[in-house]
Amino acid sequence: MGLLDLILPLYCARCGRVGAALCGACAEETLREAENCCMECGNYNEGWRCSECGELEAESFTFGFYDQPIGKMATELKMKGARHLVGPLARLLAEALPDVEGRVVVVPVPTIKRHRKERSVAHAELVGRELARARGWEYAEVVGRVRDVVQTGKSGKVRREQVVGAFKVELPLLYQYITEGAKSQEAMFILLDDITTTGATLGECEKVLREAGVERVRRVVLAKTR
Ligand SMILES: [Zn+2]
Ligand SMILES: [Zn+2]
Repeated sequence: MGLLDLILPLYCARCGRVGAALCGACAEETLREAENCCMECGNYNEGWRCSECGELEAESFTFGFYDQPIGKMATELKMKGARHLVGPLARLLAEALPDVEGRVVVVPVPTIKRHRKERSVAHAELVGRELARARGWEYAEVVGRVRDVVQTGKSGKVRREQVVGAFKVELPLLYQYITEGAKSQEAMFILLDDITTTGATLGECEKVLREAGVERVRRVVLAKTR
């Protein structure tokens, strides 16, 4: 909490009422509106699984869509560094995410360095940390950036090609969570990002994790563009 937080009152991001970054009624409303959909095809998920895609690789969770209040809040956090929304967004996700058995590690998609500098907020990292705390999970920044790719308004194919080679795995850190030959005891890695368009970034992060030997990965995002 910074000095300004002590001086300025908080206003609800949805209804504007003074008192909290997201008031209780609006938090409930946002949860009711949650439309967990498949990141691949946009159909509704049953828990972690899409009935259309149905494959293990396609296991994902999307809280809602970009044009819903959840998307607006995620954008405020990402673009304007609205740090007071970290807690409410993490709590909403913590409540909405289906159960995961066993050891779980939340892994944020690393914020682009330039954005982190300009907006002074590492959004996915902050939400990831709070989400892990709320669910009693672990948190580890095992995916890092090799280079920064800013993606805007390009086709899925182009976006997928853009991010190839953009991420790396911090192997010493990863090896704290996976042990060769002990697959059954492996942690489930929950890759977290705030907003996704085509899922290219999350897909590439998942790919480098799997290449590093991770078996169990799921992708989670706050909002998806329609
Ligand atoms: Zn409200
Ligand atoms: Zn699907």
